[in-house]
Amino acid sequence: MEKTPNTSPAIAVSACLLGRPCRFDGSSKPIDAVMRLGRRYKLVPICPEVAGDLPVPHPPCEIVAGSRPVRVVDATGDDVTQAFHLGASRCMEQLRDADCRVAVLKSKSPSCGSGLVYDGSFTGALVPGWGVAAQLFRDAGIAVLDESQVQKLDMPSDPAQP
Ligand code: SF4
Repeated sequence: MEKTPNTSPAIAVSACLLGRPCRFDGSSKPIDAVMRLGRRYKLVPICPEVAGDLPVPHPPCEIVAGSRPVRVVDATGDDVTQAFHLGASRCMEQLRDADCRVAVLKSKSPSCGSGLVYDGSFTGALVPGWGVAAQLFRDAGIAVLDESQVQKLDMPSDPAQP
């Protein structure tokens, strides 16, 4: 069956994975395999924390493990849950506008993490869970992958290859 689409499908991507310096400490986390997705897909950069009006830099933030409803705090103890929800919902609008069915998001982040997130103790400990934006996207039926899973996107062999 022919798998090549007539137009490039849109994929939402954590902006830090594309080299944008939007992480809490002002750094980025560019990943070549993620940037190469741009050869086949229309990439829609998103950053839920910037979208939630958190400044860059800002203190590291973590989801409090087991909190229901989910609660996010920063390393100074401030509750930043509302900013995380606001950013997630604003990014959800971006995904809807661009008709994204897939999102490739940065692992372990309290916004973008998929399957594992830090536990709220700021000790580096991880627990099963989803970032606030990642969970919202999943609830809307969007497939969420992290940067180590881009091969699942059925990339063709390197187009530069003879
Ligand atoms: S919120 Fe997501 S996109 Fe923004 S810096 Fe954190 S991991 Fe990257």
